[in-house]
Formats: sequence, C-alpha cells, structure tokens
Amino acid sequence: MSVTVSGPLPDEVYDVVVVGAGVVGSAIARELARYPLRTALVEASGDVGEGTSKANTAILHTGFDAVPGSLEARLVREGRDRLAVYAEECGIPVEPVGALLVAWDEDQVAALPALARKAARNGYRRTRTVGADELRRREPHLGPGAAGALEVPDESVICPWTTTLAYATQAVRGGVDLHLRCRVEAVTQGRAREPHVLGTGRGPLRTRWLVNAAGLYADAFDRFLGHTDFTVTPRRGQLMVFDKLARPLVSHLLLPVPTALGKGVLVSPTVYGNVLLGPTAEDLDDKGATGSTAEGLEFLRERGRRILPRLLEEEVTAVYAGLRAATGQDDYAIRAHPGQRYVTVGGIRSTGLSASMAIAAHVVELLAEAGTRTGRAADLAPVTMPNLGEAAPRPYLRAELIAADPEYGTLVCHCERVSRGEIRDALVSDIPPSSPEGLRRRTRALGGRCQGFFCGASVRALFDGAESGTRAPGTEAVR
Ligand SMILES: Cc1cc2nc3c(=O)[nH]c(=O)nc-3n(C[C@H](O)[C@H](O)[C@H](O)COP(=O)(O)OP(=O)(O)OC[C@H]3O[C@@H](n4cnc5c(N)ncnc54)[C@H](O)[C@@H]3O)c2cc1C
Repeated sequence: MSVTVSGPLPDEVYDVVVVGAGVVGSAIARELARYPLRTALVEASGDVGEGTSKANTAILHTGFDAVPGSLEARLVREGRDRLAVYAEECGIPVEPVGALLVAWDEDQVAALPALARKAARNGYRRTRTVGADELRRREPHLGPGAAGALEVPDESVICPWTTTLAYATQAVRGGVDLHLRCRVEAVTQGRAREPHVLGTGRGPLRTRWLVNAAGLYADAFDRFLGHTDFTVTPRRGQLMVFDKLARPLVSHLLLPVPTALGKGVLVSPTVYGNVLLGPTAEDLDDKGATGSTAEGLEFLRERGRRILPRLLEEEVTAVYAGLRAATGQDDYAIRAHPGQRYVTVGGIRSTGLSASMAIAAHVVELLAEAGTRTGRAADLAPVTMPNLGEAAPRPYLRAELIAADPEYGTLVCHCERVSRGEIRDALVSDIPPSSPEGLRRRTRALGGRCQGFFCGASVRALFDGAESGTRAPGTEAVR
C-alpha cells in the first residue's frame, strides 16, 4: 500500500497506470485492485476527487432518461445498481428520496407518457403518473401551476465525496499505488512490448497498459497518443446550497420535464440535510472556470422561485460550480486501442458518478479483450467509511462511541456538528486530505452556514498540526 505526494516515482514497470483520480479513475483503480496486477493511479492535484467529481448534483440516477441503446444508458443502469449495493456495504450516505418530474402546463403533462415509455426502453418500468391533487399533497410548497408529474421512485441522492474516497481507499488497501501531485505531461509510446514512458512533473513512470480517465482533459491526453476523435467542451453547472432550515420544504427530487436544451434546473435534498438549486448549463472554453456569476445565480433564483417559492426566502449557505465534460456527442467516448495498449475513458458527462462502478467493470473487460493478462479476480477487503449523512446517526449522536472515545463528543464545527475525533481520523486516514478543503469533503467541517467563520481557525490548526506532525494549541495530538 503506497500513497505518494512528492519525490521520484518507483522505478518498476507497472502493468496498468490509470491517469486521473476522479470518481471514474478511482473506480477503475479499485476494480483493477481485484486482479494480480501492479497498478498505479496518478493524479495531477494533491487529492482524489478534486476535479468534476467534487462539484456535482449528487444524484444516483436510475438512467430512466438516458438515450436508449447508448453505452451511457447501459452503464448508468448497471452502475446505479452496483453503487447502491456498494454504498450499503461501506456506509456511503444514500437517501432514496425518489424524483418527481413536475409538469407546469398541459403540454408538459402531455409529454409525461412518452417519458415513461422512454424509461421503459431503458429498462426502468417503475414510473407512475401523478395527478395535480396528489402532487400538491406530496409537495405542498410547489409553486402555483404544477399540473402533474411523473414519479421515478428509485432516484436517490448520494455523497459524491465519500464515494470517490471509498473507491480510492479500497484500491490503495488492495495494493494500488496512488501518486498525487503527479501530472502526466507527455507520453512516449512503447514499441512492440516495450513499456510506455509517462513524463510527469515527478519524473518518468513506466507502464505496459495505460488508461486515460483525465475527465475534462481526456481529449488533451488522447492527443498524446495521436487521437483526435472528440473534444471536451466544459459545460458549467452553477448551484446554490440552501440552509438546513429549508429541508422541510421539499421531500423529493423535483426535476423539470426535459427539453431539447437539456435536463434543466432541479431542486434536490442533499444527504447532508440541505437543499440544492441548480445547475445551469453554460458551454465555455475555459476548463478552469469554476466560478459563480451574478447572471447564473439570478437565473437560478428565477427558476427556483417558480418551482418552490418559499425556498427563496431561506438563507443560502454556499454556491459552487462544476464543469461537465461535454463532447457534442450523445454518448460516452470509451474506446480501446489494443495496438497501443491504451483505453480512453472520455466524455463522461453528467452521469459519471452514477455509472462509475459499471464504467470500471467495462474498462477492465476492454483491457482483458485487448490482451492485458489480468489473471483471476479476487474479493477486496471491505471498507467502512465515516458517515457524513443525516439519515444515519452521526458520531456526535452516538453515546457509546463518545463513551469509548470522548474526542467524538468534542465538537469543532458546530454548524455541521463535526467532532475532533472525526477530524483526527480523517487526518491520519490512508489518503489524508491535502488541504482544509479536502478535510471538509471528508468530515463536513467548514461546510455549514458559517462557512468556517467560527471554526475555521481551529480546523486550520488541526490540519496544520497534522501536516507538521506537531500538536495544535489546545488540542490533543492528531498524528
Ligand atoms: C454540475 C454537475 C452536476 C452533475 N450531476 C451529476 C449527478 O447528479 N449524478 C451523476 O452521476 N453525475 C453528475 N455529474 C457528472 C459527474 O460529476 C462526472 O461525470 C464525474 O465526476 C466525472 O468524473 P471523472 O473521474 O471522469 O472526472 P474528474 O472528477 O474531473 O477527474 C479527472 C481527474 O483527472 C485529473 N487529471 C487530468 N489530467 C491529468 C493529467 N495529465 N495527469 C494526471 N491527472 C490528470 C484531474 O486533476 C482530475 O482530478 C455532474 C457534473 C456536473 C458538473
């Protein structure tokens, strides 16, 4: 088990290197850990899940609205089933809230049966039409004019941060080397049976097989190997997070009836007890443009006011934006290039979290078909992730845990009820955070309504203490 963040890379030749430790690359590395292969997962930033995977709408989709017959439709459907089971096994927070596609006029009501038929073509047959009266009973705070809905009972919300971390942790414990702060800047393709040599900021890395899971940069990476068949256009999605006091206003995921312009703006509960409003859909040419804009937020407020007027009276806890890897094509761009011992996992657009485990299984199949000698798969030792969700008791509520270790009863972040014990555990975990932001994704500390105003200094001291191996003032040693 090895996680490195600096220094030269191992001299050995890996069997497979996966580039990009988002939810997709981490899922692939986890799947490869089941085989007797020397595998490395390499990531440009200092942490896993730092790209698109940290900033999405956090829905575990059923795939009811995918393009029937597409690879994406199959992988979302299979991925959803796999991830639902996996989440249960390792404690990833999931809430099966169900979705209502709300129709706001008679034309939209008339469109619902076709959506139900599309869902059935995608293998999802549990949709049901809901009349205006029932809709109003189930979602009493909907704005005026809600005329009916299509219910999709198995749509769920999930914790995207814990999902990526669970995959990467299990991969690392299963023997995969994780090399962070290791951007691949060039590839020298190995001839015949010679390994490929990856030029990285930390020196060369050699591998027989290569998997490109570089997210927004999968097109640029493909160019290293001479492929130009898709281009990633970042499609920004801005979102607003409303305070927990807004949570009783909504019980289901409220989705719009989709149009030719996309899935549109939704209102969604989160597993952390907030309410999300978003996302926008803006095609940009800057892969780093994750800022929010006044126009984007005003657009969301206007849409939100129609869907759930009372939501707009609640306080906003945070705003954020993520970038989808749109390619202008209606499907994922997952391609094997056996002659180059290379697999591209590109164009993982707005469903990659849901599909991640099925994408991983598909990629390993492609590698095996292309000639990778994978050997026999074995079960991985299970992982148990810290619970960040509101649906199960958090540590501050667990008397037996606090009795055994009082650090779980000492709150540091009062908005999100995060204890010093949880922060300590995250700081000494197999893949420790590289920043307070990474610590937030592992514990929820700093993520509440004060956005770190009250707890920021204490959290920072704990983080810095762990970084330097010293004790933060007024705290127990954390490492
Ligand atoms: C607004 C929004 C809402 C969404 N909602 C949902 C949803 O509700 N449900 C759902 O299932 N999906 C959703 N998605 C989609 C989902 O978030 C993505 O499909 C998924 O996160 C993509 O993961 P990834 O691993 O491919 O990419 P990323 O998470 O971006 O990971 C790629 C990684 O590769 C690294 N990298 C790039 N180039 C290099 C290099 N040369 N060397 C080393 N490392 C490199 C990057 O640093 C990055 O960490 C949403 C996306 C957005 C933006």
